[in-house]
Amino acid sequence: MFRSIGVLGLARSGRAAAELALAKGVSVYAADAADHEELRRGAQALGALGADVELGHISVDKLLQVDAIVVSPGIPPKAPPFDDPRLARVKRISEIEFAFRFLTSRIIAITGTNGKSTTTALIGHLLNTGGISAVVAGNIGNALSNVALRDVQPMWAVVEVSSFQLADIDRFAPTIGAVTNLAPDHLDRYESVEAYYADKQKLFKHSSMDTIWVLNGDDPEVMALAGDAYGRRLIFKLSGPLQEGEHGAYLSQDGDLMLKVDLLRARLVNQHELKLIGAHNHANALCASLVAIGTGVPLPALRDGLRSFEGLPHRLQVVSRAGDITWINDSKATNVTSTSVALQSITQPTILLLGGRHKGEPYSELLPYLRHVKTVIAYGEAAPAIVHDLQGRAPVEHVPGSFDAVVARAAELAVPGDVVLLSPACSSFDMFRNYEERGAAFARLALQVGS
Ligand code: ADP
Repeated sequence: MFRSIGVLGLARSGRAAAELALAKGVSVYAADAADHEELRRGAQALGALGADVELGHISVDKLLQVDAIVVSPGIPPKAPPFDDPRLARVKRISEIEFAFRFLTSRIIAITGTNGKSTTTALIGHLLNTGGISAVVAGNIGNALSNVALRDVQPMWAVVEVSSFQLADIDRFAPTIGAVTNLAPDHLDRYESVEAYYADKQKLFKHSSMDTIWVLNGDDPEVMALAGDAYGRRLIFKLSGPLQEGEHGAYLSQDGDLMLKVDLLRARLVNQHELKLIGAHNHANALCASLVAIGTGVPLPALRDGLRSFEGLPHRLQVVSRAGDITWINDSKATNVTSTSVALQSITQPTILLLGGRHKGEPYSELLPYLRHVKTVIAYGEAAPAIVHDLQGRAPVEHVPGSFDAVVARAAELAVPGDVVLLSPACSSFDMFRNYEERGAAFARLALQVGS
């Protein structure tokens, strides 16, 4: 066990790791290259608990004296201070690795390129519906160290893990691990797709015969990632029944979520009973169901949990159905790819709110997905670019002015049976502080115009 650690990066997870260390009698040198008001408050709190804290400067000499450095996922492997070759001899670990060493909870780890947060939250919900104590943690917003700090730890910690955190694990070993899907991502940080996948593969490093792996059977990259890791494999497929000898879950032609695990054959729910919208979310639901089965959630509770899960805010979230018009908040869609995923999830006539701060992507890439769209409302700073890319090829209308005016125009155009979808493909910073504020404004206005 470590007697002393360095903690680099004092945002949420770094601070939690330092608190955990101090609570366990491990001495801490904590530092952040930045220095601002919020960090200062955190630094002060850690200082009061006995840490040696520095802001605005990182001391390599002090780091050379610790047993391990807990590194924030935001610090790439060769970024300062790791450009100093002397630091190569100090062990570098991620916050989940550090927390793991103090956990009595068993771990469910969820990784993949997309759908991690939704799947993590749904698993937490399914376990709690089944009366099994579980807490969601990791990238979803609650550092794993906070779980390890509890006097009474839950039976399960459901942890969303990114490739950056997996890069620096050592002993971290889930009892159940799930991989939602894989696609090229984070190429600003990785030299190649292979390097990104190699970090994800570390999830399998400590597999045993007792580990359960829940894998996307429709994604050959995911199956290849698991390679010949030890453990039981449960696979999920949207593409129809499982093969002879395969166990897991699939979507039937009638849209039923089906289980086939050992001798169990069961229908869970129909996709229309879920509040989650879109095929990608049905894959997430299949994945989460298999994890829940692995922990012993009884079938009736599993069905209840699937029906009652509301989804995460700002991701294809239904915020109103007043007057038979469905208002959907997908404010988290800040690029063209996410908006195209949303459009493929909706089959009703749609009024699409597209706009915000332009990020440089061509909106013409949305054209193949606009089949159900009656009107594209272009708004915000990006409106001229949107009109330029879509005019003459799709029904697009520029609504100038405030976001209120944009929503009011959508309400005028919508008739019963329609969807009004905020999936803006742009960042929010021209009108809002962040995508959460934009989504909340949309939800509030939707409820106002609907009432
Ligand atoms: P993550 O935590 O991996 O970023 P989220 O659950 O927050 O994923 O979902 C973010 C976006 O990713 C969603 O709005 C949707 O566009 C897309 N998405 C979610 N699940 C999937 C999936 N299984 N396959 C492909 N895309 C998905």
